[in-house]
Formats: sequence, structure tokens, C-alpha cells
Amino acid sequence: MLIILITLDCVRKSHFNEDYAPQFFKNREEWVSFENAFSQSQNTLSSHFTMFTSNYLMEHKVYSNFSPKKLPPHSFDRHLRNKGFETKAICGVSFLANLLGNQIGEKDAGFDFEGYSIYRKLLRKFSKERRCAYQVFKRGMRFLSKSKSRDIFLWLHLFDAHMPYFSPDKFRNFKIKKSEKSVKEQIDEKGWFSPYFKEYEKQLDLSYFPQCYKSAISYIDDEMNNFFMFLKNKNIFDESLIFVTADHGECLLGDHNIYCAHKKLFDDTINIPLFVKFPQKKFSGEKVFEIVEHLDIAPTVVSKIGLEEENFRGQDLFKFLNGKGKNKEFSFSEHVDNFMQSIRNDKYIYSEVVENVPNKWGMKMEDAKLFTRNGSEVKDKNIESIMKVKMDELIKEIQSSSKKEEDSLYSDKKIEEQLKSLGYL
Ligand SMILES: [Zn+2]
Repeated sequence: MLIILITLDCVRKSHFNEDYAPQFFKNREEWVSFENAFSQSQNTLSSHFTMFTSNYLMEHKVYSNFSPKKLPPHSFDRHLRNKGFETKAICGVSFLANLLGNQIGEKDAGFDFEGYSIYRKLLRKFSKERRCAYQVFKRGMRFLSKSKSRDIFLWLHLFDAHMPYFSPDKFRNFKIKKSEKSVKEQIDEKGWFSPYFKEYEKQLDLSYFPQCYKSAISYIDDEMNNFFMFLKNKNIFDESLIFVTADHGECLLGDHNIYCAHKKLFDDTINIPLFVKFPQKKFSGEKVFEIVEHLDIAPTVVSKIGLEEENFRGQDLFKFLNGKGKNKEFSFSEHVDNFMQSIRNDKYIYSEVVENVPNKWGMKMEDAKLFTRNGSEVKDKNIESIMKVKMDELIKEIQSSSKKEEDSLYSDKKIEEQLKSLGYL
């Protein structure tokens, strides 16, 4: 059996649609779409750890992108390997390959910028940390062509929709508006938060980078479609189990005073696309509105090899679609560096700063704690206290039943440098 996990870094639910991802949505009927899917974090490594372990951040304790932790024995890739699967990860950015991808299968041979020669120049601009969608999928196809295993797990991670957003020119079909001020000056004037990127020195209208973000999604969409065509041509698409999701979303033009970055716990960063293609078109075309989470990916995978894992927090989505799951009332998420915690249901988001944790980014924070799902403040102390109580109960329950050990992987100066250049440290 072929199991594929595709994670689209920074692709928020509201922007993975017919307009920006037309190729995918042309074939939407092949997929089950989960309209209320939530990540347990807005942070890259944290979210991916949750997908693989079906644990909350307070369990796996990966609260930053500089957190070298070993995957625990119950992570789904370990279960697959124990059952004889060949496992492989191809990441779009080197820090993720170093800290997670290289634990999943044979180590990544490097980021050597093969592929379209017209891309090479552009790619070198990003230094040797990134790999574009074309290269990720090309490596994926090569791996699948070469592998002699019948049972394969492949994780493909796409980084093009992460600042600085990348797409070849043909996807940039928008007018570039200039400005008398640099992007950096304009962000500062508005009091918005964004990590520093050298691209912000350009004198461009603030709409420029959000436009590039949309182009990056269209570019990924195009390459992803080529990859699915490859699977179809090899007659392995129908029988495979495929997940398409994002690790988290992105704030764009000053959403909650954040510019082109993923901070805070509103739906812009936590409501993620989740599409699943089950073998033999099971449930294809269905739209599901109940709450599902990243926590549910690992149980869905291991159920395909006939396993249940007691350390998982999520549930098998296949079973859920068969009417044998439980409807979740709430979803819980945590912020990088344990700065914030939030809980949401179908209507509201309750979000608060964790006591005594500094706002080291200097972000402008909202006074309110209760919001509608679209981020508007709600003044209703009754609902606010119900949400707060629910969140505290959930935290208590996680803490009381958690028995995870901390297991350090290694530390690496190089990773620290890479993260600095990406605006993380
Ligand atoms: Zn990410």
C-alpha cells in the first residue's frame, strides 16, 4: 500500500480554493474535504510532530523550530516501518529535514538545486536552505519509481508559500505597485509584526507579498497536479491513501497586526486545509463540517495496517466517516514558545496568553479573549467563561494522562543559523 502525506507549509484554509489552486479543485470530487480542520499549533516543527505522533504540544514538547527531539516509538512512521513499510521524507527546507525528515527514512541526500535550469538562479537567491515544489515532487517521483517495496510511506513538504514566497514568473499574474517607502518602513508605521526579511527593503506596496503568497499556492498546485498525474499514469493513485494538509496557515495583510507571518491562534493560522483520498474512492466528494484535527492523521494511517495506538489523542477519520467516531466539540491549539493557548468550537475562539510568558516578538495583542471564528471580538462573559473552563479541563486531562518522556535528538549550529535567516530566532 502507498501512503502519502503532503504538507503545504503556511497554506491557510481560506486561500486553498478554486481561485488559487484550480488544478486541485478541478478534481475535488476525488477527495474528502474537511472544512473544519485545525492544527494544534501555528509553528512548523510543532505541527508536524503532532501529525506524526497524534500528541499535543504539551505532550511532545516541541514548542519551537529549534527543538531537536526524537520521534517517539508510537509515531506512525515507526509503526509503518515495523510492519515492513519503506518510509521516506522529502522536505522543502533543510531545517525540517534535519530535525524531522531525516528521522523518517533514509537521510536526505542534500539540497543541490537540480531541475529546471531557469529556476537555478532564482533558487540560489534563497541560499541553500530551500527546495521548490518542482524539486520536491521530482524527488518524490524518483523515489517511487526506484523503490521496490510494495508498502511505502512518503512525506512531501512544500515550502514555497513561506516567506519569501516563491513561484516562477508565469504564476505572478498581478500588477506590481511601487511605494515611496520600503515594505519594512510601512510595516513599522502600521505597528504590524513580521520577522525581518531582506526583501522588505524594497519599495513596494504592502499588497506585493500577499500577492506573491497567492502565486506560490498556484505554483504548488500546478506541481502537485503533475505529481498526481504521475501517480495516475502509474496506476497507483486509486489504491493509495493520500493526505493534503498544511502545518498551519498565514496572516497576510496585517491580519491581527501580523504581516506575512504565522503568529497568534486565529483561524488564519489554525484552520488548515485537510483533504484525504482514501483507497478505492471511499467517501470521495464528501464535505465534512465536524471538527477534525492534525491529531487525527496518525490514527487514520495506522488503522490501515490494523493497529490502534493508545498514545494517540486523535481518532481514525475513516471510522469517523463510517459513523463510528465521536464528534469533537472543541479543538485545542498552542503557540510557539508556549506563548498562547486557545480553544475553538464551530462558532467561537477563546485565546489567551500563557501567564508569565513574554511577548518576545513585541506583537500588538488584542485586549479580548473571546472572538468569533473570523476573529471579531465578542463581548459575552458567559460564553467566555464556558470556553475558558473547557480549555482548562482539557489541559488538565492532557496533563494527567500524559506520560511522555523528553528525548533530545541533537543540537546543531547550522540549523540555528538557518532558522535565523528565516526570521525564526
Ligand atoms: Zn510551517
